[in-house]
Formats: sequence, structure tokens, C-alpha cells
Amino acid sequence: MSDFLDYRVIKRKIESEVCTEHNVSPEFIKTAKGFQINSCCEEFKNKLIEKSKKHIAEQTKSAVEQMMKKAFKR
Ligand SMILES: [Zn+2]
Repeated sequence: MSDFLDYRVIKRKIESEVCTEHNVSPEFIKTAKGFQINSCCEEFKNKLIEKSKKHIAEQTKSAVEQMMKKAFKR
């Protein structure tokens, strides 16, 4: 289902974030079930999970729109 998502884009976005308290960048890991985030603290991790979900939702939306466009071209 989520195979068409470009996790590299999401990874780049998430890993460019820096914890305001510890000044450390997180690590975004694509897993079989979805994704995992390694970060310095729980608070930052929770924030990043919310952001990731938003990015994934956006990616899904644009991927579906792309597929629809292709489908209607014929
Ligand atoms: Zn932190």
C-alpha cells in the first residue's frame, strides 16, 4: 500500500530537523511496518512522528493524484 511513497524525501525532511533542547539531529529509518525515528529525547521524537505522519499523508495524496492523472490520460 505505501510502497509508492518516496521515503527518501520524508527521511531528508525529518533528518534536517534539530532538537531545540539538545541540538541533535534525528535518524529516520524505514522499516517493514512503516518507519522508526531515533532521537535524543522522547519529546522530540513525538514531534517528529507527528511531522512524519503529515509528510506521509501529503506524499500519499500527491501519489494518488499522480495515479489518477495517469489513469485519466487514456
Ligand atoms: Zn532532544
